[in-house]
Amino acid sequence: MVGGGVAGLGTALAAARAGHRVTILERDATPMPASADLAFEWDRRGAPQVRHSHAFLARLRNLLVERAPDVYDALLDAGATELRFTDDLPPTLTDREPRPGDERLCAIACRRTTFEWVLRRAVLAIAGVEFRDGVAVDGLIAERGRSNAIVNVVGVHGRAVSGGDSATAAATETGRPFEMAADLVVDATGPRTASPGWLTDIGVDEPAELLVPSEIIYLSRFYRLRDGFEAPEASGPIGGDLGYLKYAVFVGDSRTFSITFAIDTDDRAMRALTEVEGFEAAAAQLVAAQPWLDGRSEPITGVHPMAGLRNRRRYFVRDGEPIVTGFVAVGDASVCTNPLYGRGCSLALVHAFGLADLLDRTPRALALDFAEFTEREIDPWFRAAVQQDREARELLDPAPSGPGAAPSGSGAAPSGSGPAAAGDVDPKQLLRDVFREGLLPAVRTSPIVYRAFLRWFNLESTPDALMTDGEVIAAVMQSYAERGARPPEPALGPGRAEFLAAL
Ligand SMILES: Cc1cc2nc3c(=O)[nH]c(=O)nc-3n(C[C@H](O)[C@H](O)[C@H](O)COP(=O)(O)OP(=O)(O)OC[C@H]3O[C@@H](n4cnc5c(N)ncnc54)[C@H](O)[C@@H]3O)c2cc1C
Repeated sequence: MVGGGVAGLGTALAAARAGHRVTILERDATPMPASADLAFEWDRRGAPQVRHSHAFLARLRNLLVERAPDVYDALLDAGATELRFTDDLPPTLTDREPRPGDERLCAIACRRTTFEWVLRRAVLAIAGVEFRDGVAVDGLIAERGRSNAIVNVVGVHGRAVSGGDSATAAATETGRPFEMAADLVVDATGPRTASPGWLTDIGVDEPAELLVPSEIIYLSRFYRLRDGFEAPEASGPIGGDLGYLKYAVFVGDSRTFSITFAIDTDDRAMRALTEVEGFEAAAAQLVAAQPWLDGRSEPITGVHPMAGLRNRRRYFVRDGEPIVTGFVAVGDASVCTNPLYGRGCSLALVHAFGLADLLDRTPRALALDFAEFTEREIDPWFRAAVQQDREARELLDPAPSGPGAAPSGSGAAPSGSGPAAAGDVDPKQLLRDVFREGLLPAVRTSPIVYRAFLRWFNLESTPDALMTDGEVIAAVMQSYAERGARPPEPALGPGRAEFLAAL
């Protein structure tokens, strides 16, 4: 396993529990600390996103409950909490009775480092697993068969980068090369994987790639509730999309929480938010963030920026044949989605368990079946992310103005008369209007749409589920038809000019 992030650890967990011997090679020197809180101090430059808010969706939570319930319990023991979406039903719902399936609408509130720490501890407890940190892989070792046979990977080479706490790292001076044989090499090196280069080095064509940059910058800051203070009421908004800024408050474990902004990469006026003063001045203006910052909490980090975010998918089968055997990519190294949608870790764990279930195949069958699994289970959400990004971008052009204008997500929706008739408008525009003025209000009033939206958001249905369910469509269209009779939605933050002036 090359890489000991969520995908590497998840695959190791599933594979080792199925009886396989697993060695994890992780570049970051991250000795295992005694507590999850100390893991928050890890130097994770290989996965800088650990410094950002993470949503752990119901799909991931339910997968753990079903496949690794002890890990789920360990997360709760480490201070993570359950976010049961049907415990605090919006007071505006017309019917608030429990329904079958509500128990699955539950996500995990947890810092990313806590999640990794618990997962790593569970993996280390399995016989036959070795975790070597401070070890960077820099290429593959290949075996060549007949001249036109598929290249088969039989190991990796690399070097020790710094002293971790593992036997190998301790025994290997920094910079010293090593080689390791393996029946299967799994690339779990995340979004910045270098494996296409490793493949060309052994004579394999680079995998085909679909890359759609997300064109946003993430800014996150973590806080902790002060002793004697509690979190605000759970029924309020948790974020908003103001057009010029998307933001959310994420509950973490152990009384922590974080606030994250997403700004446009080329919006220079928003760069003030990268400084602590600008960040705090911005957060103080945002309806969903204000209750958390009324003196009940204190910051525990600075502001972490992260750019270079993307949707990217790599294809390891060409013309019905694997481009390589003995090597697969899992998690972000294979499919990476815009973090705004909070799907990466859930998809990484689905991918990880899916791979582990196929390990008894022959090398060729494994490559083909895993590609098929990726296409079936992961690719639809990749395509959905690309589509959502495209729609958000179209919405921003022309630039919005006014309080809460032009939301593309779950923020305030300005009410208005909308198009006079379907024939007068671009069908795409109509769809966006129905989303804003039909779906989003219906989420707050219809128990059917509320649950369908949450199932979709949490990857518990298919990406097109909201568009294909007759009951949902009927409720949304009714809500759209009634749009003129509704009072305007309250804005979740000021208009852009007011916001910038207050910075
Ligand atoms: C800003 C941001 C916010 C996000 N928010 C969410 C969210 O809310 N919810 C969610 O589910 N997902 C979120 N994601 C996505 C999520 O973080 C990723 O999907 C997830 O980390 C993928 O896990 P991975 O194991 O594939 O990669 P990573 O977690 O990046 O792990 C890769 C590991 O490989 C190691 N490595 C790299 N190269 C080498 C090498 N040559 N040799 C050895 N080791 C190496 C790295 O050090 C790292 O530990 C977010 C991502 C970003 C960028």
